[in-house]
Amino acid sequence: MSKTNSFPASVLIYGIRLANLSMDDVLSAIDAALVSKTRCRITFVNADCVNIAAKNNDYKKDLDQMDWVFIDGIGMKIAGIILNQPVRSNVNGTDLFPLLCKNLAKQGGSLYLLGAKPGVADAVAKWAIDQFPGIVIAGSQHGYFAKGEAESVVAKIHDSHADVLLVAMGAPQQEAWINRYMQSTGSVIAIGVGGLFDYYSGNIPRAPYWMRKSGLEWLFRLIQEPKRLGGRYLIGNWTFLARIIYSKLFSGAFKG
Ligand code: UDP
Repeated sequence: MSKTNSFPASVLIYGIRLANLSMDDVLSAIDAALVSKTRCRITFVNADCVNIAAKNNDYKKDLDQMDWVFIDGIGMKIAGIILNQPVRSNVNGTDLFPLLCKNLAKQGGSLYLLGAKPGVADAVAKWAIDQFPGIVIAGSQHGYFAKGEAESVVAKIHDSHADVLLVAMGAPQQEAWINRYMQSTGSVIAIGVGGLFDYYSGNIPRAPYWMRKSGLEWLFRLIQEPKRLGGRYLIGNWTFLARIIYSKLFSGAFKG
């Protein structure tokens, strides 16, 4: 995995250790893990996740157990500037997904899609097969099964022999799920991908490219779902900023 000269390989933001890689580095790292069959737990952290981690110690511990936590969103970039922890790029699951599918289609790796409302993961599977002929979708399962059904879901994933498992159940559930069950699923890579399936199933439109490029994806999402995301963004963004400034002033408390 290549490292750049001007960016540290990882940064520490609000006590969370984050891999500071480019998208190309991330894809190479995933490829290498698949080839060597090195089990890897991956997730992404954005400003909202930092707010959750500040209040939920179990989630913070789940993040600490991940092999890689990637940096998602403009908020994290701003935090990096404030904390003098230069963030290299916005590596979010939604941008990673098609690139990952392309690589898997080329290499014959298989994918299991777990999460979102009934029918959504199936629609994503169809999208992936249409876009990347040759990709093997090992299976899919919605994310609203009862607690008691977890073992049978794990057994289904295990029997599918999927190489890569995407868990789209939102933070903090998906990280807890990965840490608890990944080993038993037998997958080589497990990735927590939040609301990604809703985009690729066509359920929720994704922000146009110019908005994503200018760090305004959160605004687009807010306009799409004001009721659900109003608190997260309108209050959450300021809470996040306050937390980052606090952690700069009292850095001793945030050594991770
Ligand atoms: N979800 C799920 N099971 C649950 C709760 C949520 O599968 O018990 C799904 C939900 O349908 C959505 C995703 O998890 O597709 C979370 O989306 P959100 O926008 O909250 O995640 P973000 O991308 O912001 O992390």
